[in-house]
Amino acid sequence: MTSLPARDHLADDVFRLRTLIANVYYVGQPGAWILVDAGLAKSARAILRVAEERFGPNEPPLAIILTHGHADHSGSAGELAAYWNAPIYAHPLEMPYLTGKSHYPPGDPTVGGVGGLYARLVHPKMLDLGDRVAPLPDDGSVPGAPEWRWLHTAGHTSGHVALFRESDRVLLAGDALSTADLDAPLGLMARTPGFYRPVAPFTSDWYAAESSMHALAGLEPSAVGAGHGHPYTGPHTARRLHEFVDRFQAPAKGRYVRTPARADTTGVIYLPPVPPDPLPKTIVIAVAAGALLAALAITRKRSG
Ligand SMILES: [Zn+2]
Ligand SMILES: [Zn+2]
Repeated sequence: MTSLPARDHLADDVFRLRTLIANVYYVGQPGAWILVDAGLAKSARAILRVAEERFGPNEPPLAIILTHGHADHSGSAGELAAYWNAPIYAHPLEMPYLTGKSHYPPGDPTVGGVGGLYARLVHPKMLDLGDRVAPLPDDGSVPGAPEWRWLHTAGHTSGHVALFRESDRVLLAGDALSTADLDAPLGLMARTPGFYRPVAPFTSDWYAAESSMHALAGLEPSAVGAGHGHPYTGPHTARRLHEFVDRFQAPAKGRYVRTPARADTTGVIYLPPVPPDPLPKTIVIAVAAGALLAALAITRKRSG
């Protein structure tokens, strides 16, 4: 069937593919499967290839479920949905970001970490999936996957969802938490998973993020597949998740740490003020000092 290594399996019928940055998950059997998340815009071919390896050609998924609309999770959703003629579902509070009605709250570079640097460089475009995307049913059911239910896990984004299957307690957590340390320079390269906070600069409500993580730990999952990092499996999964959540602390500083952004079904309705950001000033001063030193050196050479 599939050539993916064992560590990518959370159950016989649940496995992940690591695309460029984010994970996607294939859930189900040939003829009855769903895709959870859809990678960056350039990931469609890789996702299709593994789908064909696993399920055979001409076996489209019954649905594409997005944990949230960030570009690393939704980028290929439109292309794949068109190719498969499959519907896309997301939480109603994510719809404005998936239908070209609102930008997400801007990334927060002041929250620190490697991600903070990344947030200075990345300014995502607005995505519009049009009528290919529909809101998830409000009874918690997951279209195309009757054993699963979705849970609203706000915080990273306002309409973030996680997917859970009660029978074997498999949890697909999206970016409600990470299993790689995204604040470390090579965190994504780590060979073993751990539990870590959500992608910090793109998390717009830390109070909600914390209570969502508590709710996920309360599910006592046997295996956790997050949006970033290797799947966390094994007998100690739930205990380790509880330990992580119990000692969790929001970042010490950052735009959304004490005052969350607010959003409704139309998109962002309130943003806390932009905090002072010392880095650009530091860079300007460093460049100016460098230029001055170079000028002095040239002057000395000429007069010497
Ligand atoms: Zn995200
Ligand atoms: Zn992500």
